[in-house]
Amino acid sequence: MTDRAWGAPFETGGLAAVFAHPDDETFGCGGVLALAADAGRVTRLLIATRGEAGTPDGSPDPAMGDIREDELRCAAAKIGLNEVSVLDGYRDGGVADEPFDRLVDEIAQWLEERRPNAVITFGPHGVTGHPDHIVVGSATRWAIEQLAESGMAPAAVYVVSPIFGPGAKRFDLSGEEQGATHRVDVTAVAGRKLAALECHASQADAKQELADLRAQLEADGAIYEGYTRVRPIVPAPHPVFDAALL
Ligand SMILES: [Zn+2]
Repeated sequence: MTDRAWGAPFETGGLAAVFAHPDDETFGCGGVLALAADAGRVTRLLIATRGEAGTPDGSPDPAMGDIREDELRCAAAKIGLNEVSVLDGYRDGGVADEPFDRLVDEIAQWLEERRPNAVITFGPHGVTGHPDHIVVGSATRWAIEQLAESGMAPAAVYVVSPIFGPGAKRFDLSGEEQGATHRVDVTAVAGRKLAALECHASQADAKQELADLRAQLEADGAIYEGYTRVRPIVPAPHPVFDAALL
């Protein structure tokens, strides 16, 4: 399924994130993954593309894919990820052009082999509306429903709901992503989240996020990540934010 994997030997359980591009993991849940790693949990990441379209004009360049894969390795080391896998056969910007069932099956197989206790992915609007984000989030949630039929679903599934960050734009989010159920204080690992953002040096967005988070730390002395638990659904109204993921 992939020849571009690195990291730990096989061990089931822990916390797994499934995203579209190198850097999604750091923006979305770099803090929570670092906290989980510090707590001794297995942390792993599945990425659908190499991010080769992350060039200044958005035109794909295999050399950019190489650069971003190196950046992902750098970020994974800062965060403390045990394993990173990159799918084969999906173009940056073109994930939705491939058969959806194949994507679902590949994600389901990756999850089935690792049996994470909890999974983080994108919600219905993919935070930014990027089509790759939307299709990967959707395929991941479908894959988990498939696993649930064999009793192999993770105990909890979260979607990224970045409504507590300085750059958060609620109008860019779906209702599901706006309705965060979890607000996790990641200040204790802020340095590692910032260092992981620094790794993604080819991306202007990462530089901007770095500046925004530094400003928020300066102003408030704290940074947070937001999540919505979508499985099992948290009943509404949910007036109190949970402070940790499963
Ligand atoms: Zn992305």
